[in-house]
Formats: sequence, structure tokens, C-alpha cells
Amino acid sequence: MDYQEVCQVYRDLEKTSKGLEKTTILAKFLAKIKTEPELIYLIQGRVFPDYDEREFGISEQLAIKAISKSTGFNESRVVSEFKKLGDLGLSAEKIMQDKRQSTLFSKKITTDKVLANLRKLPELEGKGTVEHKLNLIIELLNSASPEEAKYLVRTLLADMKVGVGSGILRDAIVELVYQPKDITEKKEKALQIQEAYDKATDFAEVFEKAILNKLGEISLNPGKPVKVMLYPKAENIEDAFKIVGRPAAFEFKYDGFRMMLNKQENKDITIFTRRLDNVTNQFPDAVKYASENISGKTFIIDCEAVGFDPKTKKYRPFQDISQRIKRKYEIEKLEKELPIELKIFDIIYYNGKSLINEPFKKRRELIEKIVKSISYKIQLAEQLITGDEKQAEEFYDRALDEGQEGLMAKSLQAPYKPGARIGYAVKIKPEGEDFDLVITGAEYGTGKRAGWLTSFDVACNSDGELLDIGKVSTGLKEKPEEGLSFLELTKLLKKIIIKEDGRHVFVKPEIVLTVQYQNIQKSPSYSSGYALRFPRVRALRPDRGIQDIATLKEVEKEARKEL
Ligand code: AMP
Repeated sequence: MDYQEVCQVYRDLEKTSKGLEKTTILAKFLAKIKTEPELIYLIQGRVFPDYDEREFGISEQLAIKAISKSTGFNESRVVSEFKKLGDLGLSAEKIMQDKRQSTLFSKKITTDKVLANLRKLPELEGKGTVEHKLNLIIELLNSASPEEAKYLVRTLLADMKVGVGSGILRDAIVELVYQPKDITEKKEKALQIQEAYDKATDFAEVFEKAILNKLGEISLNPGKPVKVMLYPKAENIEDAFKIVGRPAAFEFKYDGFRMMLNKQENKDITIFTRRLDNVTNQFPDAVKYASENISGKTFIIDCEAVGFDPKTKKYRPFQDISQRIKRKYEIEKLEKELPIELKIFDIIYYNGKSLINEPFKKRRELIEKIVKSISYKIQLAEQLITGDEKQAEEFYDRALDEGQEGLMAKSLQAPYKPGARIGYAVKIKPEGEDFDLVITGAEYGTGKRAGWLTSFDVACNSDGELLDIGKVSTGLKEKPEEGLSFLELTKLLKKIIIKEDGRHVFVKPEIVLTVQYQNIQKSPSYSSGYALRFPRVRALRPDRGIQDIATLKEVEKEARKEL
């Protein structure tokens, strides 16, 4: 297929903000790519499936260089266009238009060529990488039309701006493959597609199997990351019983981060976070504990990695160990200074078989059999099965006394639903509410804090649209050794600035913070219609992405409670 045809779809998608219209545009496109399902990735602004975390590694600077070299205009011209338009894709288009007045282009680029060149980018390493990357991009830009250049550059920078989230892709597949007669059938099919996607984390595979009526063939595969099950909140123990049934399994809710331990046959363990990042190299300790103490040829095990103080053995809050997730160097040193313990709480695949439809009680019995517990290395999550509120309350007090975040209450009969925030288990936490939110902008401080970004605009999610809900500036430290500091966050944000406006900057929405607040107020000042009062940063969440942040619905629910 010509890349131009894909660009036409981008253009149509960009013209409307209505979900239904986007769905119809996409369904039409899907009809054309039944034999090339991989082209779905391009629509997503990607070249690999969602479970594949490889990145192009293209900075704005490199993209500017590529545009400059392929057009013959110098870099400062590209930069000044970029400053005007705030979007390198648009800048590339504009500059190409100017260039094209003098030179006519004739070659067509195919989607195969785009996929081939872009897929080479993450593979390049070592000497000459930058040059090699530039050449691959320039080769594409040289035969691109201005519009193609716009979308190529946006793809390279992982910033498509055409507004296709997974919900819309899912609905488009439903519309094309099933042509549902009514809303009930539409919902039912959407659920099937969603379930298949949550196992596969790959829209091309789901689309292909849906056309062949073989969705049932999609299965779990150790080594390929799968979405984790998520848990809604319960108000208290009584509420938890109502949601998950009585008796229920109560477990300590540890304040660490989620890890999926994957064992393939005759291979070492691979570890994924809940945003499907492969963090195996960062956690040789976890790999060791799991391979030495879990028996089985193949498995996918769900657990929480919790930090503890190596001297006092006291558990530490997540923020203290969060740096281990991203750090690529001095791993051994970190392993000693910030040790972790694995708290195993679920299993979804064992020795060649998926267990997601088995009741939780059975899954727990299996982990009790196959995991050898060793304190401060690997242990099962502390659990109490009870139908008695008083016993559950006592267990809750114990969890809090030991410095844990609260409790989980789990249905004994429920299956495991990857990717779903469903009431098969719920979390119970004491007062002191918090939301995970994404940073969309920030402001430089003044005086002593000049040079640091000190106030952060945070947003929640409403069907793929980010809505502001406040500014947060407390909770960060001035001295890096005391915890998450202004300097650390400033460094991270500076890499993803999209636009500057005086002291204010806009950033790519990538960085997630856990923000504590005292209450929520209605507020016309923010696009969500709400404002957090007394917000405070509790943690930086490198293990979480934009898909994990609070939804507007959750915000509304919490706001209603306060009335
Ligand atoms: P939250 O991050 O507040 O939505 O709480 C859910 C998270 O708690 C899960 O994603 C896990 O990372 C973590 N967690 C800690 N202990 C457990 C447990 N025993 N069972 C399930 N999840 C747990």
C-alpha cells in the first residue's frame, strides 16, 4: 500500500474529534488492510505491537537535522519554524512545501518501506548509530510529500496527534468484522475484542484473528508481556465484602510496584512492569529469587516488589526504590542499597496452561505449592480468608501497623481479567486520598529556585483526552538526597518539552505522579471541571503510563462522596 493512503486516514482522523466518526473512518481503512493487519501499527503511530517496548530513540534535535538535510534548508530555519508552529511534523510539512516549489518529487513511498526503515532504528547501536539513523530517516523524507513528511516526523517523535486510542481501534474492529445490529450486540462484541486485546496486547493479531473468527486462539505466552488486572477501590471492609463476596481473601497491600515474572521453557526469567516495560536487567536480584525458589517449566506470576531498609529491615515506601526501575548503570550498587522482596500474589499461567479462568482460590493454592518462601527475598502475600468483619478489621490494623498501604480483598471464586479494573478484587486504603495523574506542563521557579521547574500541571484522562485538574508544587525536596527533588523532575521534564511560553512549559504527557490531596472542589479554572485542594506529590511513578492515570469518572466519583 502507498503510505499516502495511510496519511489520508490520518488527515481524516485529525479533522474530527468525534469518537464515532473516527471509528467509521478506521473501520473503512481496516477493510482495506485485511491482508496487511500490521498497518494498524502505523495508525497507532507505531511500527511494533503495543507489547513491544522498543523505541526509535529519535530526539527532536535529530529530527531537525534530518529535515534540514533532506530539504537543504539550514537547521536554524527548521528551528524557527518549529518555534512558530510548536509541532515538528507541521514544520516539516511547511518547509517541504516551500522546497517543493522548486523541485518536483516523483517517487512514492510504500508502507513496506516506512515499516522497514523505522523498524531498523531501534536495532542500531554503537559507533556511527546517529549517522545511520539519520540516513534511514532522510531516505524516507527524500521521497515524501509534505504531508507524508509531517506524519513521518510525528511518528518518529511518537506524537501522532490523530487521537486514536485503543477504545476507538477496538470499536472499529467491531464495526467492520461484526457489523452489530444494536447497542447490546456492539457492547458484547467490544468486550470480546477487549478481552482478546488484553491477552495479546497487539491490535494486529486481534484484528487478524477476529476476521478469521479465531479469537479463541489468542492465548498467553510467557515472555510476551500481558496487561495486569487492576483493582477498584472499596470504601471499607463492609463495602469490600459487598463487592467481592463473603468469605473473601484479604491480603496486605504492599507499597511497592507490580512485577510480572515470566518463565519460558529453558530460559531465564523475564520481568515486566504493569506498563509492559521489560525491567529484567534492572532486577538481577528478582530474577535470582524467582528462578531459585519457584518451581515450574513455564509460568507467568504476578507480584509486588517491595523495598526494605538493608539495616533495619523495615519496609520502605515505593518512592524510595522507584529509581531502580529506570536505572541502567550501577545495578549492583543499587541492589545492595535498595534491596527488594517479592510478594507473590497471583499466577495466570503454569506449565503450558493458562489459568486465567481458574478461581482465585485455586491459583493461590498453586502459588502456595510452587513458591519456596525466604524472608526478605521472596514470599507469598500475607493472606487471611475470612467472612468475619472483625477479623478482617484486625488484619487491616496489622497491615497498617507494619507500614503497609492497606488491604486487598479478593473474591475466592473470580477469574483473572488482564487489563480490566474490575471488582474481582478491591483495594482498601485509609483516608488520605490520592490519584495517579500525568504532568502536562510546568512552570519555572524564581529567586533561589530559578532554573528549576517548581509547579506542575497535572491531568486526568477522559476517553483519551487529558483534562487538567490542578497544579502541584509541594512534596518535592530541594536536596536530591532527601527524596524526589525539583532537580530530578526538572531534568526529566526538560527532555520532553514541546513548547515554551515565558516561564511556563508544555511537556509531552508521559510522566506520572501519585498526587495526594485533601479534597476535591468543582472549579471552572481547569478543563476537568474539578480542582484538587492541597495537592502534594507523593511519588514519581516510572512504572506507570498515561493509560494508568485516574479517569474523570473516578474523579467525579470521589468528588460526589465529599458532598
Ligand atoms: P493502586 O496502585 O492503588 O491502584 O493499587 C493496586 C496495586 O497494589 C496493584 O497494582 C499492585 O501493584 C499493588 N499490590 C500490593 N499488594 C498487592 C496484593 N496483595 N495483591 C494485589 N496487588 C497488590
